[in-house]
Amino acid sequence: MTRFREGVDDAAAGAGRALGGDAAGDSPVARGGAVARRCLPRRDEPEFCGRLVIAANRLPYGIEEDGGRATLRRAVGGLVSALHPLAERVGATWVGWDGGQTASWARVRRGRRATPYRLAPVALPPRLREPYYDGFCNGTLWPLLHSFLGRAEFRQDWFDAYLAANRAVAARVRRETRPGDVIWVHDYHLLLVPGLLRQAGVSSRIAFFLHIPFPAPDLFRHLPWRAELLAGLAGADAIGLQAPEHVRHLRDAFSWFGPAAGARGGRAAPDIRAVPISIDTRRLAGRARSREVRQRVEAIRASARGRPIVLSVERLDYSKGILERLRAIEHLLEVRRDLRGRVWFLQLSVPTRTGVPTYDRYRREVDEMVGRINGRFSRPEWAPIRYLFRSLPEDELLAYYRAADAVLITSLKDGMNLVAKEYVAARAGAGGVLLLSEFAGAAGELRGALLINPHDARGTAGAVARALDMPALEQRQRMASMYRHLQRHSVHHWVRRCLA
Ligand code: UDP
Repeated sequence: MTRFREGVDDAAAGAGRALGGDAAGDSPVARGGAVARRCLPRRDEPEFCGRLVIAANRLPYGIEEDGGRATLRRAVGGLVSALHPLAERVGATWVGWDGGQTASWARVRRGRRATPYRLAPVALPPRLREPYYDGFCNGTLWPLLHSFLGRAEFRQDWFDAYLAANRAVAARVRRETRPGDVIWVHDYHLLLVPGLLRQAGVSSRIAFFLHIPFPAPDLFRHLPWRAELLAGLAGADAIGLQAPEHVRHLRDAFSWFGPAAGARGGRAAPDIRAVPISIDTRRLAGRARSREVRQRVEAIRASARGRPIVLSVERLDYSKGILERLRAIEHLLEVRRDLRGRVWFLQLSVPTRTGVPTYDRYRREVDEMVGRINGRFSRPEWAPIRYLFRSLPEDELLAYYRAADAVLITSLKDGMNLVAKEYVAARAGAGGVLLLSEFAGAAGELRGALLINPHDARGTAGAVARALDMPALEQRQRMASMYRHLQRHSVHHWVRRCLA
């Protein structure tokens, strides 16, 4: 099979080639035969082999416009990394919001650009975009579900827009679904979709996966539309969550505020399970050992001039505890004068939700604090924090993981944190220390990590000092046990359990 070149769809690759999907097309694509051929799983791949319709807020590709030429670019992020290989293998259909790029998608469709599976973009009226996405998704649900009650805003017009957007996605999923298909709905943007599909008479199996935490019912109850959201979720046959704690919370929420059994039209209550998302462990480990990545590692290490590197990677989001981490770094440099000039904190912050006032403000606070700490401790030949504000491609990120002596993750709340798992895979049993917030879902699985409470600057600083002093043998043992765990619990294992 000709493969779509990752990340880039140049004109030549797109011209008239029939791959698994016809981007944005309404015409039927080769389905049955293509699916059967693609359903020969690799040794460590899942058994799921049916027709699959994925619904997520965004499509796995965005469009970059450059001088009238549209380029499809694969999106960055945990969800896409997890689902893209499966979608490709089974020839899935992926339904998602077009991100407001309606005209660009229409151009892509006219040009019959090929993608490895079918994409079904949903156009939302411009008036809905802001209240749906910045509003209810990221101004209400994101903070509330991460237990930041004080940051959550409750506005009826935002919920109305959310309902309208969920209706639009549900309508497109319904159009794309044939009897016997499995529908897999993702994340907090689409909590109403399973219920809307049932209302529309869809009888297919529906699985739902929530990538972010579900809070204690005491917090969730503040949401004026809690009953509506739970009724939406109740349309699913199976609901996957990242951690047992979230399962307990959702079950309690269902029993306190959920729809009565009679309202489910005779269907059983959803099967709610903890199914932690994971990574393609073998592929990442293999890629991290490639020649290209090794060369980059050399360059990064050379620029550190023999100093240990403590790396942090995340979207620039308040839930990641970046300010708390900076306080811990400052504390460490205050109390351990011997580390001044001798350690390098590398902060890779990926732009996210730019233009949203909360995020723009948070970025300014981070910028100022990095500047203050660097101003306070820098020497002519050294600054404690190197701060990159951009998104890196996979090979580059793997090179940073390989070069880092430790990774420091300080999430105040995090559904999983794939960066933690990727670091372990990239090290593949070699040394390195994972410093992991106890509030990240990954902390429930990665037992070889040094757990930290990011609210405790002194404790976090102490853990960093311990990581820097940890004997090589202990590092290897801890990493090896986590790597073995991730070999058994890869993303393929996750898919199998979610779609079982
Ligand atoms: N990532 C990336 N390029 C970057 C930084 C991050 O591709 O420059 C990816 C990273 O590999 C990981 C994802 O973004 O798969 C972040 O997932 P995580 O679960 O850690 O956090 P989220 O952003 O989903 O909250």
